[in-house]
Amino acid sequence: AVPRPVVLIPLDDYTRILAGDGDDVVLGLSDGTTMTGAQYLAWFHGSTLEVAVFHPQAGAVNLYDTKRLANAKQRDLARMVLTTCPVPGCRHAADNCEVHHVTAWSRGGLTNMDNLSILCRYHNRTNDDDPAKQNRGRIEIRAGTPTWVSPRGTPVANNRHPYGAMKQLFGT
Ligand SMILES: [Zn+2]
Repeated sequence: AVPRPVVLIPLDDYTRILAGDGDDVVLGLSDGTTMTGAQYLAWFHGSTLEVAVFHPQAGAVNLYDTKRLANAKQRDLARMVLTTCPVPGCRHAADNCEVHHVTAWSRGGLTNMDNLSILCRYHNRTNDDDPAKQNRGRIEIRAGTPTWVSPRGTPVANNRHPYGAMKQLFGT
């Protein structure tokens, strides 16, 4: 019988994989081959599952699968973090929302998960993109969760459909 390959995982690397750096981690196997941490997670959890990693303070970290493009992963993670538009009382479901840059692209905001939120088309247009000009309130990231903040600076959650990942996993 051919021995089954053993994958060797340094604990530090495992922590890095779970922290979202799985694409950059290379693991060695006893059959002389290697795989990335992302491939390991994909194999470990089977071809039909995907692995979404969330951090209790940082929020969505990475979505491991083998096929999807980066921007599609970010969109899917954003709609896992919140299942509705974050503006209090808004009924728009995440699947019908746009992806919003918390710090606007024009102000140097990057397309990274810690700067992205779902937001319905209407509230994307009325969001105060300039933090110095408070009028209708704006989305900010609070404890890893996109949160509407009033013009006076009070964060208010939209509790209409509290089934987002951060609420489900960490209660925040
Ligand atoms: Zn909305």
